Amino acid sequence: VYNFSAGPAVLPEDVIIQARDEMLDWRGTGMSVMEMTHRGKQFMAIAEQAEADFRELLAIPENYKVLFLQGGATSQFAMVPMNLLQGKKQADYICTGHWSKKAIAEGRRFCEINLAASSEDTGFQHVPPHQDWKLDPEAAYVHYTPNETIAGVEFHWIPDSGEVPLVADMSSTLLSRPLDVSRFGVIYAGAQKNIGCAGLTVVIVRNDLIGRPQAGTPAMFDYQIHADHNSMYNTPPTYAWYVAGLVFSWLKRKGGLTAIAKINQAKANTLYSFIDSNDFYYNPVERAFRSRMNVPFILSEQQLDEIFLEQAKKAGLTNLKGHRSVGGMRASIYNAMSQEGVETLVEFMKEFERTRA
Ligand code: PLP
Repeated sequence: VYNFSAGPAVLPEDVIIQARDEMLDWRGTGMSVMEMTHRGKQFMAIAEQAEADFRELLAIPENYKVLFLQGGATSQFAMVPMNLLQGKKQADYICTGHWSKKAIAEGRRFCEINLAASSEDTGFQHVPPHQDWKLDPEAAYVHYTPNETIAGVEFHWIPDSGEVPLVADMSSTLLSRPLDVSRFGVIYAGAQKNIGCAGLTVVIVRNDLIGRPQAGTPAMFDYQIHADHNSMYNTPPTYAWYVAGLVFSWLKRKGGLTAIAKINQAKANTLYSFIDSNDFYYNPVERAFRSRMNVPFILSEQQLDEIFLEQAKKAGLTNLKGHRSVGGMRASIYNAMSQEGVETLVEFMKEFERTRA
């Protein structure tokens, strides 16, 4: 099937095959990676290679740590203020959708939130223009969500936060294109979209921002403790870390982020240009802010939603149901979705429109 799930999402077939082939016996050790101690030399080698490949893909500067954690992006909603407030009372947040709101709600447990910009009043269909943002130069950090997975709204530029550290929830966009990591204080992402399988959360954090957690921060929420222990303060999510390593290696073989960005752009163009070319399907997001990863679309006759999903499933196109908060459909077209998969979806949509509309 072609799996359009928003996450956990489709993985490259090569990665699944390699994981299967190595499942029972990892390179002659007689053990599955699942069975290895994280402190043994085999797993250490897997972990180090994964980090090296990840750093190479994103050209992560030396003055950043990469952490392989648990707890999902949702834990980062708390870990960011716990580690970055550093005595300050307030942080800036940009609200462009469901996940921004979640980050803001969690941030409120720790500090005052300055809602520097929001597109909520227009139903999250655009990114508020940068010149209208009311950033506070005294804020502890500026938090934003470069790709809103549910509404399908994406920033196609990096905001300027001046001297204030920029923090980004990149769960559904990291590794989809080249990125200037040096513009950020913290980048975090749950793995279950472009990185690998659920259970792993990757954090990239600038060295000067760690080491001053709020009083009372639990060890597991302190970036410094994880950094000091190379993400092995406790048992890390070993298998998910291994799968991430396979994905990084696959991405390198594909030609890295410049190559995958081109493929992703072509897929998005194929789908959006079809949606825009007819009256039966509709995407409400302003064109300049449309996501290359998550493409929501609405059928002009909503009573056909269930039939659309049923027939799509029969045609081998799965997980197209939109998030319950917005309804309609959503096709997530992460790195592992092929151009062929997107074209098959478009052909199905054409045929559905032809026979139903
Ligand atoms: N942030 C974004 C942009 C997401 O898409 C998601 C999940 O889909 C999350 C946060 C929550 O991630 P997790 O379930 O890993 O906590």
